[in-house]
Amino acid sequence: MSAKPQTRAAEARIEVKNTTCYMCACRCGIRVTVRDGEVRYIQGNPDHPLNQGVICAKGASGIMKQYSPARLTRPLRRKPGAERGDAEFEPISWDEAFGILEERLAHLRDTDPKKFALFTGRDQMQALTGLFAKQFGTPNYSAH
Ligand code: SF4
Repeated sequence: MSAKPQTRAAEARIEVKNTTCYMCACRCGIRVTVRDGEVRYIQGNPDHPLNQGVICAKGASGIMKQYSPARLTRPLRRKPGAERGDAEFEPISWDEAFGILEERLAHLRDTDPKKFALFTGRDQMQALTGLFAKQFGTPNYSAH
């Protein structure tokens, strides 16, 4: 009766990938267990010289970046009439989102590019976002 799940588990392709955690700037060494192409869990890498196998709760929960039902997967726009902080949004298409961005950014660039402030949160490519901001014409960019 329990042979079927065991067979499935035995047939699963399990890989362990050594990499670094991107949940903050420390870049602790992690081992990510992947089963049939899906991340299953994250552990510290005991061979990594920085963290020696220890990871924090945030690092261990990095799997939620892949699977949390609360993660953002498409552009959201504040609903008409809603105020900031009301948390009332509606999904829009990527084409519509890029259209809105293009219109707003074109207006800022034509009038006063320094009014454009770019904050990218946990930015892994600040060299590129910084280049983008400079090309746009604003010194106002930052990241976590
Ligand atoms: S395990 Fe924690 S401290 Fe280490 S990189 Fe990830 S988030 Fe940062």
